This record gives sequence, structure tokens and C-alpha cells, in this order.
Amino acid sequence: MAFEYRKRLPGVEEILTELPVSPALAEVKQRRDREVTDIITGKSSKFLMVIGPCSADNEDAVCEYVARLSKLQARVKDKLMLLPRIYTNKPRTTGMGYKGMGHQPDPNEDPNIVAGLIAIRKMHIRALGESGLSAADEMLYPGNYPYLEDVLSYVTIGARSVENQEHRLTVSGLDVPVGMKNPTGGDMAVMLNSVRAGQSPHIFSYNGWEVATPGNPLAHCILRGAVSPFGHTLPNHHYEDIMFLRDLYAKAKPTALVNPAVIVDVSHANSNRQFREQPRVAQEVINSLKFAPDLRGFVRGIMVESYLVEGAQDVNGGVYGKSITDACMGWEDSEKFVLGVADQV
Ligand code: PEP
Ligand code: MN
Repeated sequence: MAFEYRKRLPGVEEILTELPVSPALAEVKQRRDREVTDIITGKSSKFLMVIGPCSADNEDAVCEYVARLSKLQARVKDKLMLLPRIYTNKPRTTGMGYKGMGHQPDPNEDPNIVAGLIAIRKMHIRALGESGLSAADEMLYPGNYPYLEDVLSYVTIGARSVENQEHRLTVSGLDVPVGMKNPTGGDMAVMLNSVRAGQSPHIFSYNGWEVATPGNPLAHCILRGAVSPFGHTLPNHHYEDIMFLRDLYAKAKPTALVNPAVIVDVSHANSNRQFREQPRVAQEVINSLKFAPDLRGFVRGIMVESYLVEGAQDVNGGVYGKSITDACMGWEDSEKFVLGVADQV
């Protein structure tokens, strides 16, 4: 056997006992769960912004960022719900490079999964406590979800995981909204199949148990752009793409999908990975909504990559609050951008 069994991971109970969520914070999360659920179901017309760094690589910088977001949330509360992106596990295109705090609590050191599980829970709880904003995270490893279940108000399935059965079935057991991205090749049918699987009940094996799930009616789509087989970037945030997706939803068989909804990721392939393009991409989405106001009941929000300092650096670059994965907008531009979106939706 080639595996070296290095350390046994602490159980969920053990970590939750060591790092509990206070009743007051549990209440904040529940209130925010309801708020984001109402946006996805259409009960609320607030516009969602999932905003924050590509990867949450440093607890202090992330908490400072989220505290700033909290002040901004107070200014735009009538129009926008801000969900901090606190992404603690990073999918990598080739499997190489920094894999997130859950994997490498110190980005410059070897993976340490036990310390990583503790570090990400600690960071999420601190960020929630200091900002009052429960966060969004990507569920890269479905088995790790129970370690964060009581702090997250929104979950995403990334472009590289969305076709995976384990991810899809796990989504069916979550009780918060889950955004399922189009795969990197851009196939929207794959994304909708994923939403179908997430919305359906299942029985399967999960964390050493046979489990039964009810299906998650809050599973929906995220358009993140694509890359062609020839390496060209193919944005999918335009009016035509959104109409096409709405039509796919309308034609879904054999039964209708519930809560048809899409979040547009204005970063990644929709911005050709140019962080300064994000406001322009968002503006194009907003223009589509102004042109066809009924689309507002389908496009529920956007996703943005933003951090304290603009751009990106090497993993050992050492600049506090600057991304070590995808390039992000800096704070001042992000603040102006959020206020601009609030004025228009
Ligand atoms: C991300 O959100 O940083 C990310 C990796 O997204 P995607 O799965 O769309 O590539
Ligand atoms: Mn990213």
C-alpha cells in the first residue's frame, strides 16, 4: 500500500467542542441564512454580493477585510446583502500550488490537515464574531463540511467539482443556498444537471454513515465564464448567456427545477482573470437587468474577488492583505464598486 497513514483527524465533535459557536453568533447566522434564502427564493429583492479574496490565506487580513465589509454592509443594507468570501480550500488546475488554509495553515509550509481544520474553523468564527457577517466558502472536500456547517450561510461548488457525484449528493443535504458553477469548459447542461442532483433527495454513504437527504431547493447556478478547447476565454455573463440559461431552466425535464436563479461571477473567466475588469463585467450584467427588468427575478447577485491590497503576489510575497492566488481588486476600488452597484439595483 502506497498511502502513509500519518495522523488520525480529530472528529467533528471534538473540534466543535474545542471551538464552539456562541448562541448569539448562532442566531446571527440563522438570521443571515434566512436573508440569503429569501433572496434565492425571490421573497426578497435585495441583490447578493459574494465578495472577498480568492483565498483566505491569513486570519488577521481576512478579519480586517470582513470588518470593513461589515461597515459597508450597514451603508447598503436596503439594497444589498454582502456575503464575505472566506474560501479556505483552493482547487488547483494541476493539483500544484497553495491549496488553502484548510490544507496549509502556513502557506509556506508543508500541508498540515489537522492544524488546517482547526485554523479554518477558528478564522470563520472570529470573522463572524467581529463582523456579524456569516460567510460563503467553497465546499471542495464534502467530508469537511460538518466542521463549518454551523458558520456558513452560503456554499459554492467550484467549476472543477461540479460534475462530481459526491459533491452533488452532499449538496442535497445542505440547508443553505448552494451556488453550483458551470464547469471550466462552459457546459451549462452539466451545471443544470448538478442543480437537479442537488435539489433531489438521495441515500448515500457520507463520513462513515449511510445518510438520507431531502434535496436542497436552494441549489442554483453560478456563471463563471469558460475556456475553449483552444485556450480562448469565453465569458458567459452577457444578456444572451443569461437568457439561454433561463431558457434551459424553463425546459428542464422531467420535472421543473425550483427557485431558478443565477449568480454571475464577474471574476475568473468572465474577466479573463483581469481583476480591474470586474466592475465593467458587473456593469454589463446590471445593464442587462435594466434592459429586461424581468431578468432581475432570475439574476440574484454577483460574485467578486477583492482583498485589502489590489493584485496578486507569489505565495511568499509577504504583502499583508494581497492575494496569493487569483488577483483581486483592492479595498478602495471595491468600496466604490459596491456603492455603485447599490445605486443601480
Ligand atoms: C474561485 O472561486 O476562486 C474559484 C477557484 O472558482 P472556479 O471554481 O470558478 O475556478
Ligand atoms: Mn479565484
